[in-house]
Amino acid sequence: MRDVFGYERFRGPQQAIVEHVGAGGDALVLMPTGGGKSLCYQIPAIVRHRAGRGVAIVVSPLIALMHDQVGALLEAGVSAAFLNSSLSSDEAADVERRLLRGDLTLLYAAPERLTTPRFMALLQSLYERGLLSLFAIDEAHCVSQWGHDFRPEYRGLAALHERFPEVPRMALTATADALTRADIVHHLRLEEAEHFVSSFDRPNIRYQIVEKKDSLQQLLRFIRDEHMGPNGHDAGVVYCQSRRKVEDVAAQLAAAGLNALPYHAGLDAATRQRHQDRFLREEGLIMVATIAFGMGIDKPDVRFVAHLDMPKNIEGYYQETGRAGRDGEPANAWMAYGLQDVVNQRRMIDESPAADAFKQVLRGKLDALLALAEATDCRRVRLLGYFGESSQPCGNCDNCLQPPQTLDATEAARKLLSCIYRVQQASGTAFGAGHVIDILRGKATAKVQQHGHDRLSTFGIGAQWGESEWRSLLRQLIARGAVWVDGEHFNTLRLAEGAREVLRGEAAVRLRVPTASAPRSRSGARQRLVAAEATLTLAARETLAALKAWRAEVAREHNLPAYVIFHDATLRAIAERQPQRLADLQGLPGLGQKKLEAYGEAVLRVVNPVRSVGRLHGLPPNPHNPVS
Ligand code: ADP
Ligand code: ZN
Repeated sequence: MRDVFGYERFRGPQQAIVEHVGAGGDALVLMPTGGGKSLCYQIPAIVRHRAGRGVAIVVSPLIALMHDQVGALLEAGVSAAFLNSSLSSDEAADVERRLLRGDLTLLYAAPERLTTPRFMALLQSLYERGLLSLFAIDEAHCVSQWGHDFRPEYRGLAALHERFPEVPRMALTATADALTRADIVHHLRLEEAEHFVSSFDRPNIRYQIVEKKDSLQQLLRFIRDEHMGPNGHDAGVVYCQSRRKVEDVAAQLAAAGLNALPYHAGLDAATRQRHQDRFLREEGLIMVATIAFGMGIDKPDVRFVAHLDMPKNIEGYYQETGRAGRDGEPANAWMAYGLQDVVNQRRMIDESPAADAFKQVLRGKLDALLALAEATDCRRVRLLGYFGESSQPCGNCDNCLQPPQTLDATEAARKLLSCIYRVQQASGTAFGAGHVIDILRGKATAKVQQHGHDRLSTFGIGAQWGESEWRSLLRQLIARGAVWVDGEHFNTLRLAEGAREVLRGEAAVRLRVPTASAPRSRSGARQRLVAAEATLTLAARETLAALKAWRAEVAREHNLPAYVIFHDATLRAIAERQPQRLADLQGLPGLGQKKLEAYGEAVLRVVNPVRSVGRLHGLPPNPHNPVS
């Protein structure tokens, strides 16, 4: 932990896992994205390799990631390699030679490669010599067809247990539900494995969900308010539903002077790859993307994830927002949503070719997300509750930081529901939200008059409210299953089962006072999530900028993302400490022995550009340098 990775403390169950697997036990590890799964197999691999037990095989489906992960291990002084289709046959042969010699501590391989007869024979030869230390199966949910990411190759991994029964195996995933978990145990033959289930909380992520108005302007304001630092803006991901919108939003962000790129499945593979590389390698780039982007992005310093359209369900929302702040530093998950999102998602479910029972499941999941979006209490309590975890109000979501004002909208809800009912009764057909709200507000539009809806008893009974209040209430009623949007019939509104209790006065409806009428920031009640740099002294900030420039250069030379060289937090700690000699660098987070040796002196030179030359080497100050 300390020598190789430069970390002071284990996180959550890491230590228990490392001890269990290090001692040869099997493990099933469920940990949220950013929880620190890699160390759970990397440390046992290092420990067991040092004890003469050979190589750990890491199975991962994410070929794109292997290069950077192996790069990070090499930077930390751990001998590692990968085998995948990106290698030439010479390169692959070289890796195999090193593997057989027992030189490698970790080998990353894709599942389809692992289960070839040729590779199994290699493993067999290692096994017979006692040189197979561990199998770590990452993204283990890929074995389950219930998951979103089924990969048939994963099923072949059961053979590992049959062929190499003595080798400890661990399966790791960030997908938690019980069905997937049971599938992993069953298909990977992990009946004996100990289960390590972490809390799924990501305390450093601040959840914010706002009502969609002019969403692009809202997004720009959010980025300007919360993610602009002295050295430009943070790295972030903006998710949109459609390819066209991705292109559009990326162009608009760029036009607003932000460093933004599009990413979606409609771009050719080379462009996608280039944009992904730039996102990983550049400082502060904003990726505007469909959900095609993100799987296997383990960039630790993504400071915000923004949703301009609502995801399908809480699982998706949590997975996507989970890509923010993997380094544990403050990060934002921000979403703008509106009635149209609800309608669109409903329609997609209604129009999908799936079986009815399955559609019902999908609708239930969508409703849970709607309820989260409409919630007036702690978002985190609801999120964790959805995953079966109980918790206390978090103090780090929009609702905790600025409790929304609510009003009793039970009476208004009844008006809205009876209006939907009356309209349908009078005309024998249902109408959409805009029309129903016009009737409530007493607006005698041409359409209203044409259908004689200005003669309904509900005409004008809701004149005290504006359009946006009614829409907000309508979303709430949809969320609680009182109203149903019929996607197959022009998004018309119909009463649903949940309407009954509201109409009978058996259930109260509370409504968030629309944000437009609520003061946006009352005497700083809204705490800004300032870019971490802003808290540094001016001198430290300058040092940090110099360190970042230096890091970018090293990263380019090594063909690795900057964070593989040093995390932001490490550079910040260096800038704060202003080290004068190597000893001053000892114990800084993320600075293991190997990195201290490799980069210590260079870092000192960056921090002390003039003096360091003499101090480090006992030379007099450089006479050619006018500053000295
Ligand atoms: P996961 O695979 O679970 O999403 P990672 O293994 O990529 O998470 O770890 C996320 C980040 O947290 C990485 O940048 C890693 O270096 C860092 N990290 C992991 N464990 C610790 C720890 N004990 N102390 C400090 N940082 C850690
Ligand atoms: Zn909260």
